[in-house]
Amino acid sequence: MAKWQFTKGMHDLGNGCYAYLLPDGSWGWSNAGLIVDGDATLMVDTLFDLKLTAEMLETYRASIPAAKSIDVLVNTHADGDHTFGNQLVEGARIIGTQGTVTDFARFDPTVVQNICLNAEQFGSAGVFMRECFRPFDFSRITLTPPTETFSGTLDLMVGSKKVQLIEVGPSHSLGDALIYVPDDKVLYTGDILFTGGTPIAWYGPVNRWIDVCDRVLNMDVETIVAGHGPISTKDDVREMRDYLQHVSDEARPLWEQGMDYLEASYKIDLGKYRDREDAERVVVTVQTLFDDFADAPQRPVRAPIPYFAEMKGFRHHLGRGPVHEAYCKACGIEQGFRAREAK
Ligand SMILES: [Zn+2]
Ligand SMILES: [Zn+2]
Repeated sequence: MAKWQFTKGMHDLGNGCYAYLLPDGSWGWSNAGLIVDGDATLMVDTLFDLKLTAEMLETYRASIPAAKSIDVLVNTHADGDHTFGNQLVEGARIIGTQGTVTDFARFDPTVVQNICLNAEQFGSAGVFMRECFRPFDFSRITLTPPTETFSGTLDLMVGSKKVQLIEVGPSHSLGDALIYVPDDKVLYTGDILFTGGTPIAWYGPVNRWIDVCDRVLNMDVETIVAGHGPISTKDDVREMRDYLQHVSDEARPLWEQGMDYLEASYKIDLGKYRDREDAERVVVTVQTLFDDFADAPQRPVRAPIPYFAEMKGFRHHLGRGPVHEAYCKACGIEQGFRAREAK
């Protein structure tokens, strides 16, 4: 049996390090963390909406007295599933990389909410975004970006515990950072690691992401809190690195033939990765790889919405049912979704 259960809520990793997990780890269901020593607290990321984040804060406060006030909030990167709850961590210093601050407005919650409510107006991009994001509530969110930035590494003390912030972006996003607790051999990766699902390279270069995986494999680390999925080990990092390498190796000859990235996504042999959760993300990663191969010096921050149409098409090609189907059935969301769909 796995050492850790993949269950919703707080998991005590020992010695003042905590993870907060949201199964199933697919689109929007992210993980966060908390580091505590004495009265001092550092929170790693918030969740995708205010309800989920408030629930997490209450859970912490119910069993960890120091969590009544959070001193420092670190965002691993800008994506909303790691930052949309920031406004609830009142009074905290918020720290991230400059890339995270720059990337912050890429996913505007009011835009996402509007698309989910009026999905048909946005074609298949709207339909797939609603499918991915219908379990979440994007109302009342005020984008609350980091107020302090760092580059390279930043050493902090949480009580008498050393915590190191390590800038490793751009790779998954523009501003990725790792949060490392060396004495406890614990690492919070944000979306540098997707365990059990398929990673998505919104920014790249992908070979930097592969290098970051190798860097993690060389660190003195035993317990890894991934951005999505169960509590992880270096084996999971190795597996995800191998996926990125595989897609990269498959994509390059197709780029050399002058193929369009979308056509190339369909031509790639995903092999054993075809059955992974969220395999449709390969479309975005191949676009990023094609920019990498072309040595595109300055790539735009990707507007995510058009890719959702392409990912929906790819998911259909794989013969997959709706995202979060099992989850939404359990919560009765499926019914509402179907009703709206039938209109
Ligand atoms: Zn992300
Ligand atoms: Zn994420």
